[in-house]
Amino acid sequence: MGSISNRQLFLNHVAQTSDAPIGIEMVKAQGVYLYDVDGKAYIDAISGFSVANIGHGNPAVIKAVQAQSEAYMHLIVYGEFIQQPQVAYAQLLTQHLPSSLNCVYFTNSGAEATEGAMKLAKRATNRSKIISFNKSYHGSTQGALSVMGDEYWRNAYRPLLPGIDHFDYGTEEAITAIDATTACVIMETVQAEAGVVAPSKEWIQAIRRKCTEQGVLLILDEIQSGFGRTGTLWAFEQFGIIPDILLLGKALGGGMPLGAFIADKQLMGQLTHDPVLGHITTFGGHPVSCAAGKAAMEVLLQEKMIGSVQEKQAYLLQQIQHPKIKAVRSIGLWMAVEFDSFDTCYTIIKKCIAGGMITDWFLFAPHCMRIAPPLAISMEELNTMCNIILDSLMETD
Ligand code: PLP
Repeated sequence: MGSISNRQLFLNHVAQTSDAPIGIEMVKAQGVYLYDVDGKAYIDAISGFSVANIGHGNPAVIKAVQAQSEAYMHLIVYGEFIQQPQVAYAQLLTQHLPSSLNCVYFTNSGAEATEGAMKLAKRATNRSKIISFNKSYHGSTQGALSVMGDEYWRNAYRPLLPGIDHFDYGTEEAITAIDATTACVIMETVQAEAGVVAPSKEWIQAIRRKCTEQGVLLILDEIQSGFGRTGTLWAFEQFGIIPDILLLGKALGGGMPLGAFIADKQLMGQLTHDPVLGHITTFGGHPVSCAAGKAAMEVLLQEKMIGSVQEKQAYLLQQIQHPKIKAVRSIGLWMAVEFDSFDTCYTIIKKCIAGGMITDWFLFAPHCMRIAPPLAISMEELNTMCNIILDSLMETD
């Protein structure tokens, strides 16, 4: 009897969430490249969905992981012992945030950060109505799914949380709906899975103003847009607003699982009473994840990776042009390349992967191809990436 391939074992025993996983077996990741079992190299043009902003296998991150795992790994549930990696990372993060975002609750994931922030908003305001947006993604747990903005993805899991109203970005209705019964508005500063959709500055500022007027907490999800992806450390800097609660994840952990919701200490203090232990997590803020995340953020800042984002964005916009492309939306090193249909997009994606570049489509914009390489990508690597895209386009002419 022949041995069963890893691919077959993967399909048989690792829970599948679609009939069409990319299904390549990777054995190594270094810089902007992923390597499969046959030694083929692929440019990671999506950074594991905006996780590997500084690239893969950074020596400083590896060193931090090794040192911390030798010192200690899990000790106790969140919040009891003083764990230096959490303290140091919370300090670094808050040094680079507005003074009102001075207190960090570390979680396991982005979805858990969403859950914690929504709980905090309900607890602090004693209200339950939540406003969220169509084509928004905040995670896949049931609370996060309730604020997600697409009925196709939500419907099978009803009943979900009650009292949630969804609006389109940019609408006056959304602003009008914010009232004295609203606990929070939760939104992505730039909508990721809608296919990189940025709001107008005026509109998002009007949302901010109305929240302040009505005592409503504004939660900004920067799980995908944070850590330099948009060309500034935080996307909200470009819109002249500050959230009451900020959600972080993905690049936050430097390749390890980590999420966070961040607020003012006084607001966060609501989680300490009525009931005590307002949010409980066993592994949230894992010391190895915090050590890795802090090392990655230091690399991002010290190597001034955000400084070159604009130039790289401009280069991509200039290079990625073809009659098949209907539009390109971008902010920073984050791009949605729009085609006439999912079929065209999927064909190009498959060709890019065969040509040595990993890319994907967006959840709520399946006719758009995702381009979000590590910010550390060199101009030469960027050029290789563009050639793979252009060759793929040409092959389908
Ligand atoms: N929010 C946004 C904008 C995201 O892109 C994601 C993940 O894709 C999440 C929240 C959920 O994060 P996680 O998958 O870590 O739960």
